[in-house]
Amino acid sequence: MEKQKTDKAGTGRKKTVLITGGAGFLGSHLCEHCLNKGEHVICVDNFFTGSKDNIKHLMENPNFEIIEHDIIDPFFADKHVDQIYNLACPASPVHYQFNAIRTIKANVLGMINMLGLAMKHKARILQASTSEVYGDPQEHPQKESYWGNVNCIGIRACYDEGKRVAETLCFDYHRQNNVDIRVVRIFNTYGPRMAADDGRVVSNFIVQALKGENLTVYGDGKQTRSFCYVTDLIEGIYRMMNQDNLKGPVNLGNPGEFTILQLAEKIIDTSRSSSKIVFKPLPKDDPVMRRPDITLAKEKLKWEPAIQLDEGLKNTVEYFKSTVKL
Ligand code: NAD
Ligand code: UDP
Repeated sequence: MEKQKTDKAGTGRKKTVLITGGAGFLGSHLCEHCLNKGEHVICVDNFFTGSKDNIKHLMENPNFEIIEHDIIDPFFADKHVDQIYNLACPASPVHYQFNAIRTIKANVLGMINMLGLAMKHKARILQASTSEVYGDPQEHPQKESYWGNVNCIGIRACYDEGKRVAETLCFDYHRQNNVDIRVVRIFNTYGPRMAADDGRVVSNFIVQALKGENLTVYGDGKQTRSFCYVTDLIEGIYRMMNQDNLKGPVNLGNPGEFTILQLAEKIIDTSRSSSKIVFKPLPKDDPVMRRPDITLAKEKLKWEPAIQLDEGLKNTVEYFKSTVKL
């Protein structure tokens, strides 16, 4: 599966990968993974939602570079880049709605800048797309062939439509300029290094449970999500980048499906909390159900998640216990 750690000419030079959003939750795990594979990693981040804390354990590594940069502006690399992972974009509803216009710019201008960079370096580029391209899905579970159901003028559109245009750009750059693209559609992923304050459901509930506060379930809690543990997801992304047969899009996620109420109960149990559940208004356009069909990833990448929710939550609760001031 894994192809080459040196360049195509076989000069022995380490493979250089550029990871935008590398100081974020997923990005920091991906930086670590690529370094462990013996690659040279350039982490490009504007630190909007990411943090130096996420990557401080990598800073001493001579194969790790950090460049503070906003991908909305063009980026020029001072060395040859073999692969680009494009993860730079605020990912939680609270953060991507904070400045919706910047979110669209990150997805559209940022994508154009990174595809331009890929063209110049003849690098392969992987786009971190999302299950949000399916919007509030009318098809369940979601297959890659489903075109989705997105409200293009709603509060989630800056992210959902931004990510849809980013996919369009990847395929147009491929058709028009022969750029070597990979697109993965990531479903809700959780684990250590999620930001405690980014408003996503797993981090919100764990922090609330550990602090003995009420868990805030939005709506009636019957909406569903499928939660993938971070190490599983990173393995899937890496396999997708390092295979030659599939451009995507390919779904990456854990097909186990839970209501938000079930998740709240599991988190109260796992963290042995005395917290209660309270109900708050459901945000607009909140998808009713979500579960990935991962047949394609299983078949083409020989990938499927290994860590199920109970085990993943245990690790994540331990992480927050050691990082959040209680
Ligand atoms: P995150 O917010 O922790 O990471 C995003 C990173 O990108 C941060 O380090 C942030 O500072 C950086 N960033 C944001 N805008 C930037 C810009 N304009 N220029 C440079 N850096 C910028 O979120 P995450 O969960 O790690 O998500 C990473 C990627 O994966 C995102 O593109 C997101 O859309 C995608 N994704 C994540 C999930 C998930 O469940 N975690 C699901 C679907 C898709
Ligand atoms: N949610 C909730 N309480 C919270 C945060 C989120 O009930 O404190 C719900 C939210 O309304 C949604 C689900 O949990 O139905 C997942 O939300 P998240 O923001 O994590 O991800 P997304 O909606 O983008 O899948």
